[in-house]
Amino acid sequence: MITAAAYTFKILRSDRKRPDERPRFQTYRVKVIPGLTVLAVLNRIRDEIDGTLSFRSSCRSAVCGSCAMVINGRIDLACRTQVASFGTNTIILEPLPNMEIIKDLVVDMTPFWRMYEKVRPWLVRQAEDPGKEIEQSEEERSRIDQFVNCILCACCYGACPVITRDPEYLGPAALAKLERFILDSRDERPEDFLDTVNDERGVWGCDTVLRCIEACPKDVRPTDSIVGLRKALVKKKARQLLGMKK
Ligand code: SF4
Repeated sequence: MITAAAYTFKILRSDRKRPDERPRFQTYRVKVIPGLTVLAVLNRIRDEIDGTLSFRSSCRSAVCGSCAMVINGRIDLACRTQVASFGTNTIILEPLPNMEIIKDLVVDMTPFWRMYEKVRPWLVRQAEDPGKEIEQSEEERSRIDQFVNCILCACCYGACPVITRDPEYLGPAALAKLERFILDSRDERPEDFLDTVNDERGVWGCDTVLRCIEACPKDVRPTDSIVGLRKALVKKKARQLLGMKK
């Protein structure tokens, strides 16, 4: 027989349409059977206890990235986090940091997308369209493997201490996406595009404290991309100084 255990969920609640109300933790007591995820419990709370609770979710399979939040102090996706994985019967849920709260666990991701757009996150081609698939070798594809796994959940953005002190910093996800296209054998953006991230709000702003790597639910390592972009910039500068061509 499956036995349900009693859990206390403390959820940070606020509403930017009601600025006069201070954010507060609301407590919900829920019986949870083994195997249930935090997202499953959130759905139950909203459906059966409190229909005013707001959070985002869609795929329930760690693919869409929309249920990112802080769960007992750790940033993760609610859909892939088992309630029983914490060794405590109290679960504290807070919205992702570094973005304004719209309501409860829903944050305004506009700054995240604004930074993302800045790196032109698509294949840039100069050559004429060949009218057929542009093939890659296995080796070429393997260079971008980890970065292709990014689901744009913003867990890394929420975990980044540089964004906390400078909201104009590009952030780990945008820089990882840029490296993904720089390393892509099909991308033909001019090398000078790297200059757009050659400052303290780009690759040189990173503290390399690796919190983005810790927070990423898809094992992307944004810090690797930042190191890669830094190396590319240093090589470019060295070639310029030595008067060498690419
Ligand atoms: Fe999410 Fe990882 Fe992509 Fe950052 S790099 S947006 S944490 S999947």
